Amino acid sequence: MDDRQSKMLLALRQITENVSAQSSLNEAIALLVVSIRNATGADCCSLYLIDELGEYLTLAGTDGLDKKAVGKARLRLGEGLVGSVGQKQELLDLADAPSDPKFKYLPEVGEDKFFSFLGVPIIYQGELLGVLVIQSREKRQFGAVEESFLVTLSAQMSSIIAVSRASKEEDTGCVRRYRGEQGTGGIAIAKAVVWQPDVLLSDVTIQHTNEPYVQQELFHQTVFQLQTEMDLNTLHMNESGQKEAAFGYMSGYGSLLDDPTFQDEVDTEILANGMTASSAVKIVAERRLADLEGEDDHDRYLDLRDLSEIILSRLMNFTSYTSELSEEVILVVRNLPAAMVAEFKRYRVCGFVSMDSASNSHTAVLARDLGIPSVSGLFFDINSINGRDVIVDGLNAEVLVDPSQSVVSEYRQLMTLDREQEDLFSKEKFEKGITLDGQRIEIKLNAGLSQEEMTNLPEQTDGVGLYRTEISFMLCKSFPSEAQQCQWYSSILKQFKGKSVTMRTLDVGGDKSLSYLPIEESNPLLGWRGVRITVDQPQILKTQLRAMILANKDHGNLEIMLPMVSRLSEVNTVKKILKDAVREISELSQKEIPMPKFGVMLEVPSVVYMMDELIKEVDFFSIGSNDLIQYLLAVDRGNPKVARFLDTFHPAVIRCLYYLCEKAGQAHKPIAVCGEIAANPLGALMLLSLGYTELSMNYSELSRIGYLVRRVNFKDLLEIGKKALKLPHSEEIRQLYIDYAIAAGLDKVIAQNLVKRPADKTAN
Ligand code: PEP
Ligand code: MG
Repeated sequence: MDDRQSKMLLALRQITENVSAQSSLNEAIALLVVSIRNATGADCCSLYLIDELGEYLTLAGTDGLDKKAVGKARLRLGEGLVGSVGQKQELLDLADAPSDPKFKYLPEVGEDKFFSFLGVPIIYQGELLGVLVIQSREKRQFGAVEESFLVTLSAQMSSIIAVSRASKEEDTGCVRRYRGEQGTGGIAIAKAVVWQPDVLLSDVTIQHTNEPYVQQELFHQTVFQLQTEMDLNTLHMNESGQKEAAFGYMSGYGSLLDDPTFQDEVDTEILANGMTASSAVKIVAERRLADLEGEDDHDRYLDLRDLSEIILSRLMNFTSYTSELSEEVILVVRNLPAAMVAEFKRYRVCGFVSMDSASNSHTAVLARDLGIPSVSGLFFDINSINGRDVIVDGLNAEVLVDPSQSVVSEYRQLMTLDREQEDLFSKEKFEKGITLDGQRIEIKLNAGLSQEEMTNLPEQTDGVGLYRTEISFMLCKSFPSEAQQCQWYSSILKQFKGKSVTMRTLDVGGDKSLSYLPIEESNPLLGWRGVRITVDQPQILKTQLRAMILANKDHGNLEIMLPMVSRLSEVNTVKKILKDAVREISELSQKEIPMPKFGVMLEVPSVVYMMDELIKEVDFFSIGSNDLIQYLLAVDRGNPKVARFLDTFHPAVIRCLYYLCEKAGQAHKPIAVCGEIAANPLGALMLLSLGYTELSMNYSELSRIGYLVRRVNFKDLLEIGKKALKLPHSEEIRQLYIDYAIAAGLDKVIAQNLVKRPADKTAN
């Protein structure tokens, strides 16, 4: 690599970092063109952006052309060299641009002095965003180094540009609108609270408290929690042969955490000086850091700083933060661990915005379970919205910041309309799912988080189709005991007495983690997940199974199913452990306890080809379509960048679903769908058309899907299913169900996504 090349490579990273730190697209572009010109040594760098209709490329920034032409000079797509790069979406490197027949002279830009031209398209998710150009006075081709520099930069810039363009300022300048991915439908209007887990000492502002004892308790609880985690981590490191690391870890953080003088000093700041816990930690830490400055022990300095920041992050985290909130808030996070969602119901979170996760991530699925309007997969400076007025429009996947009064009142009207529609659905909430032609469709509940406090819940469902046991595990600090689990399980079995409750054994790993079972993997979705973990840790599984059976002793409505099964041996192993557990509990209670119904989730493509064998081993199947689609299409369900490929109507998906339904049906084994597809009105129509008669979903969708089921004709849908199975493209398949729904008068139920929200009118 020559000098010039390595200089450019270095510049690449710097440019991306600097440009993404800019707060507006115009500033970012202005910086970008100057930086590129400097790094390449070209005489001019310009960026053209395509308009919304995809017709014109307009000069958006330049260093070298006439700045007065910015925002004015434009070329039709295909016109001139810039238009041609855009249209062909191909790089163009010319030594003598003006002599090219495609060259178009724009008098206003002043480019007569330039000869060489290198243009590269900027493309995001397959769509042209603009063209980046460098030019020079010399008649020479730029060549491979500049080409690869510009191509790399344009790829890196594309997401920044796409995202910035997605946020628009209203004419009135009073709203910023961001589009993300659909989370949970519904609208929330409140102030935003940004939760960031990593707090720096400098982030903390000194504050006093009227409740010193509460603050002192908070501090000590946090320290205790950290001590427990560190003990576990040390144990884990020791067990995995990392003894030295464990020693270093303990002697660094551990000794500080256990240091009573540190704790005493913090206590004094809180009790004697009336500081909040976080202010006290900051004061003590900074005092000690100042003492250490100038000494040789740099490691101790860093340990103290890092540990204080860890304590601060814990102190200022969501739990302590929101517990002080007196009114409803919209919680804004970069990436929220699924376990934290479980905390929502304790606090006043009425809306939820997450930057990183996609709408099918576990975090989003759990938020949906609570029925909280949410949008995910957004990109913007999260700190910029802390404390601002925000509207979360889950249905349209939009977040509006600082809306004007008129926009707020329009949204309030929409909330009323949404509520009226909900009321319409819920008027029938105790009615059974029977289609117009008499086909009984069982509609069950996905539970785990929100079912306990709801009254009349069993009367609104045909049972629990998926009880996510891991959610309760996530709320614990260590593995729950058999007795503790037994209590949880009896409570739901009792609540649903007379109706089946399908409990899924512990499903962690992937994007669901337990703080007390840290799993470090480079590819967690293909890693130690679901039943793989419980088969490897039979004592955890056995405790859970025993707790379930014990809990079911007085109720008799338990069904058990396994998540993430990918091979027959997993089923055999768990079945054996289950039989042992049943025998043990029978002996314990001195009465014969029958085996509960036993099933598997179909979530991994390998088991699609194992149906014959599985049919012999299990009583029922349930399709975890979130995972099945993820693995079938090789699309990470939690990655917003590829969310558009997580395609429910993909021909492979519907053919696979049809095959599974047929296979199970031939063997007279019940088969249900408990993934998000069942809760989506169009998805539910598709499932019915493939022959499914059991759907399980979050509470918030139960009454909508019930309403829909009672207004469709099952036999007609089966005919549509036959047609769908022959189609090669998902758009055509999806359209079949849209057409059916509209013809059945269900446009309101399915077409909510097409509703124009107020911001659409105002943002143009
Ligand atoms: C699924 O994968 O569809 C499912 C129901 O399980 P989870 O979303 O909890 O992985
Ligand atoms: Mg799953």
